[in-house]
Amino acid sequence: MKKITVLAGGVGGARFTRGLLHRLAASHPRAEVTVIVNTGDDLWLNGLRVCPDLDTVMYTLGGGINEEWGWGRAGESRRTSEEIGAYGRGWSWFTLGDLDLATHIVRTDLLRTGATLSEATALLCERWQPGARLLPMSDQPVETHVRLEADVDEHHAGDLVHFEEWWVRYRAHVEVTEFIQVGLAEATAAPGVLDAIHSADLVVIPPSNPVVSVGTILAVPGIREALRRTPARVVGVSPIIGGSAVRGMADHCLRVIGVETSAAAVGLHYGSRESGGLLDAWLVDETDAAALPALDAAGIRATAVPLWMHDVPTSAAIAAEVLAIGAER
Ligand code: GDP
Ligand code: CA
Repeated sequence: MKKITVLAGGVGGARFTRGLLHRLAASHPRAEVTVIVNTGDDLWLNGLRVCPDLDTVMYTLGGGINEEWGWGRAGESRRTSEEIGAYGRGWSWFTLGDLDLATHIVRTDLLRTGATLSEATALLCERWQPGARLLPMSDQPVETHVRLEADVDEHHAGDLVHFEEWWVRYRAHVEVTEFIQVGLAEATAAPGVLDAIHSADLVVIPPSNPVVSVGTILAVPGIREALRRTPARVVGVSPIIGGSAVRGMADHCLRVIGVETSAAAVGLHYGSRESGGLLDAWLVDETDAAALPALDAAGIRATAVPLWMHDVPTSAAIAAEVLAIGAER
């Protein structure tokens, strides 16, 4: 098990990958991990390019994360965003912490002077040393928007608003009819992404949001096909435990695409490789063991183990199960 590739969103993907690196340090010290990160949540704020999922993964793996929030920097302050608010500019509900702002300033400077997002990410990672190679899913901007079902505040029914506005400002409590990835048609996978899938010994779909994190990565032209064709085993971890999204609102996203909020339904939504889907194997929580027969019947090798990532050891234990299944033939 030398090369492992993970398709990650923010908090769920980052916590899993931290456990994976911890586990690998003990069992496979020479393994190389590549994390293909969702950039559909990226946005411009006050002239700065903000990449929420890339930053969550980078800070989590690099030791700078605010553990309590799951995103942002530890020891953060908000003096700058208070000042911006005093000018009535920016989005009052999206805080840019002072320390976090430095990341966005450096990234935006790099992008404006000709660097690609991949190059900017690599440079930011020189400082954070995340212990894995972080690749944005694409160097072209792809932004997830939601279509509103009804009027809300200054928006009208049918309008598209940025996913982060729906998620953070409205806590996903405003009805939407669809997700649209603006820019997707022109996007290509970033350098190294398809190769990281083709040449991996194991591909992992961690417990990330199946719709707006993993779903968005899979929608980038070429990525889903690369997963179908990779000789590596593809092992997924359920982000749903006992019929609810853990620490999040993934259930609101699943409803929009018509998928039930259950570990089985999400596994079947990804589908088994033998029937044209993505998964060889799927881990569900021990409380969801009743889902195993339906998954096995669909050609997905399913296992029930504890899936709560309380800390690094519990995340590492999940990673150990993934590695064990990935090594089976
Ligand atoms: P985001 O971009 O920050 O929303 O992060 P991700 O897309 O990577 O992951 C968010 C999802 O992770 C949540 O919607 C949950 O379903 C899942 N999740 C969070 N914590 C846990 C956990 O401890 N165990 C499991 N199995 N899933 C989790
Ligand atoms: Ca995200």
